[in-house]
Amino acid sequence: MVASEIRALFAVASRPEVVSLAGGMPYVTALPLDLIGELIADLVARRGSTALQYGSGQGDPHLREQMCEVMRLEGIEADPSDVVVTVGSQQALDLITRIFIDPGDVVLAEGPSYVGALGTFTAYQADVVHVAMDDDGLNPAALAETIETLTRQGRRIKFLYTVPNFQNPAGVTLSVARRREVLDVCNRAGVLVIEDNPYGLLGFDGDPLRALRADDADGVIYLGSFSKTLAPGFRVGWALAPHAVRDKLVLAMESAVLSHSSFAQLAVGQYLATQPWREQIKSFRELYRERRDTMLSALEQLMPAGCSWTRPAGGFFVWLTLPEGLDSKAILPRAVAERVAFVPGTGFYADGQGAGHMRLSYCYPEPERIREGVRRLAGVIEQETLL
Ligand code: PMP
Repeated sequence: MVASEIRALFAVASRPEVVSLAGGMPYVTALPLDLIGELIADLVARRGSTALQYGSGQGDPHLREQMCEVMRLEGIEADPSDVVVTVGSQQALDLITRIFIDPGDVVLAEGPSYVGALGTFTAYQADVVHVAMDDDGLNPAALAETIETLTRQGRRIKFLYTVPNFQNPAGVTLSVARRREVLDVCNRAGVLVIEDNPYGLLGFDGDPLRALRADDADGVIYLGSFSKTLAPGFRVGWALAPHAVRDKLVLAMESAVLSHSSFAQLAVGQYLATQPWREQIKSFRELYRERRDTMLSALEQLMPAGCSWTRPAGGFFVWLTLPEGLDSKAILPRAVAERVAFVPGTGFYADGQGAGHMRLSYCYPEPERIREGVRRLAGVIEQETLL
C-alpha cells in the first residue's frame, strides 16, 4: 500500500489561497443543513434505541428498499434482499476484492481509472490491466482483445471494474451502443462486471442512462452511493449482487465491521422518506452544470495550444491532456507555487502511465474560483511549454 497522490495533495490543496481543482468533494454546503439537523434530532428522539444499537450485517431493510427505489431511476428492478449496505461504495470495492482476488489475479479497469479502486486492487495484490477508453467510454474491441491475450497467456481474470457514467477521472460516459457490447464481451468470456456508479444521477442532459445491471442481473455487481447525491459524511453506499455473492458480502461485512452504522443508515433513510430528494439531486445537477460550463469555457479561452480535454455531460471531472512532452507530476510544484492544484494523471493508472494528463475537478470551488484556477494553471502550462 502506498499513499495515493490525492491524499498527499490534501494538505497543500486545502490552504485557502490555493484554488483546488484536485479533490472530488461534493458541494455539501448546498444541502438544507438545518432540515437535516432537525431530522437527525427527531430520529434520536423517536428511534434512538434502534439508531444507537448494533444493526444487521446486511443493513437496514427499509433503507435497502429505498436503495431499490433509487436504482429504479436507472432501469434496475432489484429485490431489497439482494442489496448489502456498505460504508460508501469504497467499502463495497474492498469487500468484493477481498472475496474474489488471490494475489496475481487480473482485474481489468479503464485506463485511466478511479484511484481509490486501484489502491484497493493493488492492496490485495491484484494485477490491474488497463483497457483503452475514449470519449464514448470503454472500448469493447480493446476489451475483447485484452481478454483474449490474457486468456492465451493463462492469466486468471476475476472481473472488469468500470465506471460507466461521468467517469472518475476522465469525465466520459459509456455510450448506449457500447453498453450491450461490453456486457456481451464479458458474458462470452465469463468475466464478472463491477459497475461502480456514484455519478449516474448527476447527468446534465436528459434522463439517467440505463445501468449495465438493468440488462444483466447475473453477470454484474452494481455499486451505488449516497456520497454524491446526498453527502459523503454519512458514508452510506451499497452493493447489489447475485445471491451467492451477496451472501459472501454479508459475511465479509460482518468480519470487517460487524455492521454498518445504524445511525447513519437511519439518518439517510429518514432523509429519503421525508425530504424531496429528487429535487435535491436536480439542484445539485444544476449547480455542477454551471461549474462544468465555467470550467469548459475557461479552458477554451485560456489554455495554450496543444492542450486538449474531455467534455463531461455530468459528474465532477475533466481530464486534460498536456502538450507533447510535458509531465503533470513535474508541473505540480510550480502550479502549487502559483496557488492552483490538480491531480497528476499517473495516480489513475496502476502501471505508471498518465504523465501527460491531469484531472481537474469543478465540483467544489465557486465558479469565479474555477475560472481563476484555470487562469493560473494555463499560465503555468504556458511557461512549461516555453522551457
Ligand atoms: N467510486 C468512484 C468512481 C468514486 O469517484 C468514489 C468517490 N470519489 C467512490 C467510488 C467512493 O465513494 P464513497 O465510498 O464515498 O461512496
